[in-house]
Amino acid sequence: MVSIVLKQLGDDYCEFVLEGVTPAVANALRRTLLADVPTLAIDEVVVIENSSVLFDEILAHRLALIPIRVDRETYEALLQCYEEGKRDECTATFTLEVEAERQATVYSGHMKFSGFSEGFAQLAGAAEVKPVSDLIPIVKLAPGQKVILEAYAKMGTGREHAKWQPVSVAAYKYYPVIKVLKEACDACERCAQACPRGILRAEGGKLEVVQERIEECTMCRACEEACPDVVKVSWDTTKFIYRVEGVGVLPVKDVVEVAVRRVLRRINAFVDEVQRKVQPGGRG
Ligand code: SF4
Ligand code: SF4
Repeated sequence: MVSIVLKQLGDDYCEFVLEGVTPAVANALRRTLLADVPTLAIDEVVVIENSSVLFDEILAHRLALIPIRVDRETYEALLQCYEEGKRDECTATFTLEVEAERQATVYSGHMKFSGFSEGFAQLAGAAEVKPVSDLIPIVKLAPGQKVILEAYAKMGTGREHAKWQPVSVAAYKYYPVIKVLKEACDACERCAQACPRGILRAEGGKLEVVQERIEECTMCRACEEACPDVVKVSWDTTKFIYRVEGVGVLPVKDVVEVAVRRVLRRINAFVDEVQRKVQPGGRG
């Protein structure tokens, strides 16, 4: 039976334990989180005027790497559009116009969302689309220099370009299993002193594994080295501890939800295809 137990949840960070899957499925979820959850990022820029020190291309590249936050309702509409293969019809337009009177920095906060492409605008409703921070520097201007441009954001995935990646970290480790051969242990605490995470302790003349801390085990095996015949470190190959850190384009729990949905859809499509091929008359 597959289960997910949430351990920590913030807007941009979550930790959970996934149990009852194979390492292949666990890795599919990790890869999907990094490379297959579509997000919005600037993909086309029309430079109207640029007298800054940066070439137009560098400016466009810097704009593309600014993470853009979208409210969930608009996101779902954009996702549907993307999954239907119509991503060029669902674009968000930003304008940027800054002229420096004295030396100045152009920040992401200067970008103004001016609406969606025709046709998509009704679906989006009262959309909230803006850079995740107003303080991302784009370019410095000397007195009299000017940048005027329009930028078009489209949906895409990290598989195409890192600018579409919704998370900066998506990692997992096997759930640690620490066993102590109680009969052979004299509770000398040598192993407990060797553990940098405080996972082993001697209580009432007996060594015990502190279960509340076991997820912090790095599997460094220092305890096993201190007492190789008594302590055994291993891991559960059906249970995984995930740590996911979002970049702010969506709350990280939404990123995980979309990733799980996309993994399940792909698994179902694969199973359907296999069944179709093994049925009499199938192409297989
Ligand atoms: S497992 Fe080994 S090192 Fe640890 S307390 Fe027992 S005897 Fe000492
Ligand atoms: S493997 Fe390392 S972190 Fe884990 S219990 Fe042993 S010493 Fe501690």
